[in-house]
Amino acid sequence: MSIKGKNIKLYMTMNVEHLKNNIRHNWKNQEVEALFALPFNDLVFKAAAVHRENFNPNEVQVSTLLSIKTGACPEDCKYCPQSAHYDTGLKKEPLIDVAKVKGEAQKAKDAGASRFCMGAAWRNLNDRDLPKVEEMISEVKSLGLETCVTLGMVKKEQLSRLKDAGLDYYNHNIDTSEEYYSKIISTRNFSDRLETLKNINEAGLKTCCGGIVGMGETLQDRVKMLSTLANLPEHPESMPINMLVKIEGTPLELEAEIDPFDFIRTIAVARIMMPKSYVRLSAGRENMNDQMQALCFLAGANSIFYGEKLLTTPNPKENEDKKLFSRLGIEIEGVCKQNIKESAVR
Ligand code: SF4
Repeated sequence: MSIKGKNIKLYMTMNVEHLKNNIRHNWKNQEVEALFALPFNDLVFKAAAVHRENFNPNEVQVSTLLSIKTGACPEDCKYCPQSAHYDTGLKKEPLIDVAKVKGEAQKAKDAGASRFCMGAAWRNLNDRDLPKVEEMISEVKSLGLETCVTLGMVKKEQLSRLKDAGLDYYNHNIDTSEEYYSKIISTRNFSDRLETLKNINEAGLKTCCGGIVGMGETLQDRVKMLSTLANLPEHPESMPINMLVKIEGTPLELEAEIDPFDFIRTIAVARIMMPKSYVRLSAGRENMNDQMQALCFLAGANSIFYGEKLLTTPNPKENEDKKLFSRLGIEIEGVCKQNIKESAVR
């Protein structure tokens, strides 16, 4: 039977009722391929049905991301302006003060964010920086915000201290498929990533883990990336799906544009495979028009980053997001609609 024939057969068995609450950790690549092969409208319809069953489809969770240590990273991630391997003109900054973090977290909370994420350009968390990071987490937590950090590789003992300080989520993306990983990063292995994810899970922290689309990977790589995520012992509670931001000076600066529909398909397939995870539109949102973002929300995306910068790359202005939410009748999770409308017209 041809791949197309097989896909159609699988598609016939994937009825919406079956998909709605189906938490699985045994996805086969062939099944995921079958989802990607669906006609666009059928795929988005199924994803929207799964989304509605598990979430309020008119609510979006909002997080804010702050870079707490910028640039000079020893890793060579080919998409990243913070890598010391590339000359991107980025202004480096050592670990910032706790007071600055607290101030930014308060601003994020006032703007409607429910989670505050702190990112440091490190290969791994060093014990000497641990006390200051613990303090940052405690201060952010004391504001009533959920806390998330992304600090590179991390040991179990360190995770346990971060958890005691008030950490809720640890972000650690797998970026792409295992097969394509070495084309994007050579300073660590895919297995290093999985090892850290295991540590995070064993420490009892929530996992934030996703990837990047548009780095020259094949459809098969996207299929395998999503299979890896869905087949983890627990689905990541939060799953950022990034669209590559091409930064001058990085090896991926001239990468071809991804078809927006392929990006939306990736969101829809992620929603179907991981029905209860928050699927976040992350980097690349500034290059998406309102219609594309609306389709992403319809296909199951239900989380975004607010704020003009994502670590070091541009992000839509907060007010633009509020206007879009207002036009779409979307509420920020945990914030009443009236507040959004009032601040959107200011
Ligand atoms: S993505 Fe993270 S680990 Fe990779 S170079 Fe950038 S800051 Fe370093």
